[in-house]
Amino acid sequence: MLNIVLFGPPGAGKGTQSQKLITHYNLVHLSTGDLLRAQIAQGTELGLTAKKLMDEGLLVPDEVVIGMIGSSLKTNPQAGGFIFDGFPRTVAQAESLDRLMAEHQTNISCMIALEVAEEELVTRLLERGKTSGRPDDQDETKIRRRVTVYNTETAQVAGYYAAQQKFHALNGIGPIDSIFTEICGLIDQHQAAAPENPAAATSEVKA
Ligand code: AMP
Repeated sequence: MLNIVLFGPPGAGKGTQSQKLITHYNLVHLSTGDLLRAQIAQGTELGLTAKKLMDEGLLVPDEVVIGMIGSSLKTNPQAGGFIFDGFPRTVAQAESLDRLMAEHQTNISCMIALEVAEEELVTRLLERGKTSGRPDDQDETKIRRRVTVYNTETAQVAGYYAAQQKFHALNGIGPIDSIFTEICGLIDQHQAAAPENPAAATSEVKA
């Protein structure tokens, strides 16, 4: 199974690249932001609670998103693999994801991080806010809070995967197709070096 964590701050391009990756590698896309917005659209109690935090650019409690990911894994038993987009956002979520993967007799293949500077993120998200209808995309103060939350609570998740030799970062600024090609290159390189692949003995992956 190929299980990719697509990482990076809000506006880095994770959603855009996820759409291309699910087609290319035949994966199931699991975005906790999308799952939460679906709960809001359905008017569930979970959605109502989450909306208040999301509209302020704050994180939803770990147990809520971990529960949603656990259910999604169960409802996709035939999947050839997953792209996790916007999850995990805390080390506790990363630890839970490892446990969930082990319960499903699989593991995270690698994390790919898209790096984009804050000013570019703000420009991109304000532009997206004109059409996304998302309150958290329409207000610069909320956007900057989301970036701050990323820097203070989420960025450390990279270290969790680096410790497992699974972390790769690349520049998230440039043509969408060029970034996609780079991501595929990293995934393919990682797969070739994976322990379950017999070619691994002669391959090396650069972090
Ligand atoms: P996103 O669509 O990934 O930009 O997420 C939108 C908002 O949903 C975030 O600002 C958080 O409020 C919430 N959210 C999404 N994923 C998570 C997560 N893994 N942990 C906590 N909150 C999340």
